[in-house]
Amino acid sequence: MRKPIIAGNWKMYKTLSEAKKFAEEVRGLAPDAGKIDSVICAPSLFLEPLTHIVADSAISLGAQNMHYEVEGAFTGEVSPVQLADLDIAYVILGHSERRQYFNETDEAVNKKAHAAFAHSLSPIVCVGETLEEREAGQTTAKVEGQVEKALAGLSAEQVKTMVIAYEPIWAIGTGKTATSDDANDVCQSIREKVAHLYSQDVADAVRIQYGGSVKPENIAELLSKTHIDGALVGGASLESSSFVKLLEAGAHA
Ligand code: PGA
Repeated sequence: MRKPIIAGNWKMYKTLSEAKKFAEEVRGLAPDAGKIDSVICAPSLFLEPLTHIVADSAISLGAQNMHYEVEGAFTGEVSPVQLADLDIAYVILGHSERRQYFNETDEAVNKKAHAAFAHSLSPIVCVGETLEEREAGQTTAKVEGQVEKALAGLSAEQVKTMVIAYEPIWAIGTGKTATSDDANDVCQSIREKVAHLYSQDVADAVRIQYGGSVKPENIAELLSKTHIDGALVGGASLESSSFVKLLEAGAHA
């Protein structure tokens, strides 16, 4: 039985005072950590102040990106060592916005995944197809290719503990959600790819989220599907009441 994981991806939203207020509102309302992993992926700038607010709560923190080097002359970047120093639990890697606007490659995502494990951060690796690729019948090939490249060289034990987020690019921030059956089919093909690359045991353990216009109204249906173990949520994670509803739905899935 895989534990559900719901992660809010705040992207480049909120001021520090808004971020703190949100964390104060949700910290006592997150369901028991035995039932669900509840994660806030905040802008890196806010992670340190948020650690104090969510300490001793069921909320974990995640970063939205990081560099793969431990330190160096990389202006504007954040390193895995810096995140680990704050006890940050998760890091989103290869989000489609990073791939699209910041030229993040499969090779960089793979290096970052290795770096994350080297510093005890759990990667949430994002994969997904464009609308053109979906319409051309290339969804499975695209997504499985991204998974294979992201996982290259990772051990079975590492893959068992990581999270893969299937996010069709055309569903992100558009209000268009993949049908739960379509989303489940792609998540199933990702799991089968992991089984092929590693073993059925590893495939049964890895958690696969769906992301793309998830909201309180559609999350239960998505999570009712066999291969969908959670959600990566942008817009609907920005309001504390909506985020708590998503967590509650996850805890009861
Ligand atoms: P959305 O974003 O929920 O606003 O569609 C999801 C994501 O980008 O992770």
